[in-house]
Amino acid sequence: MAAVNFGGVVPFSTIDWRGKASMVIFLRGCPLRCIYCHNYKLLEDQNYVEPSEIEAEILKNAGFIDAVVLSGGEPFMQPHAIEAIAQFVKKRSLFVAVQTNGFYPAVVETLLKKNLIDKIFLDIKAPLSDETLYEKLTKVAGVAERVRNTLAACILAGVDLELVTTVFKNLVGAEEVKRIAKEIEEAGAANCSYVIQQGRPELVPGRVIAEDDEFSREELKELAAGAYHAASLKKVRIRTREHGEEAVYGGG
Ligand code: SF4
Repeated sequence: MAAVNFGGVVPFSTIDWRGKASMVIFLRGCPLRCIYCHNYKLLEDQNYVEPSEIEAEILKNAGFIDAVVLSGGEPFMQPHAIEAIAQFVKKRSLFVAVQTNGFYPAVVETLLKKNLIDKIFLDIKAPLSDETLYEKLTKVAGVAERVRNTLAACILAGVDLELVTTVFKNLVGAEEVKRIAKEIEEAGAANCSYVIQQGRPELVPGRVIAEDDEFSREELKELAAGAYHAASLKKVRIRTREHGEEAVYGGG
């Protein structure tokens, strides 16, 4: 395996993959520049390490975990790293998940065909029919179409899929969440978990998001109700600073 642009690890997490004890591996680099990114330190700097260094980290934790979650940045920016890490992890009978912004549908499709990934956490940052808002949020043109294609590839492959929207008032709120819910249903993903995540202005550098643009937990529950009633989604959840992740509709 070629060297990996590596961002670090969280050795043990119970929140990144609900119901599983996971180790999280962060890969550096991302093609997007989201205005609310709080992983910005992983976007610019480089830290290439030998694969053996990452494998040693996995072996240190393999006895305590069920799964490895690849995060970023955007992990699919380094397809060879994902493939090699996933092969190493699966040989140890652990599960593999990837958190992605959906920018690389062809890479996702190829790796899913190799049966190396058990779960995908896919960002739906804005309605997929709204390229203008997607570009406003990510600072890159043409992202929504790529995410639509990634969503379609995941559905076609039948991989376990969770969809995540980060919300801020004045950016992505009730109307956008309802539209996203309808798009998820229309795409054939109504059975997947849909997670509405509280955007947290204090984590965004430069105070570009106002503090009062944060939704409260009660307001997030209202957004979840809107999504649930706008489409026939089976599982709608919210994620907040105060209470972590909670099912609002459906279990799982
Ligand atoms: S996709 Fe994620 S890591 Fe990349 S810029 Fe956006 S928020 Fe940051």
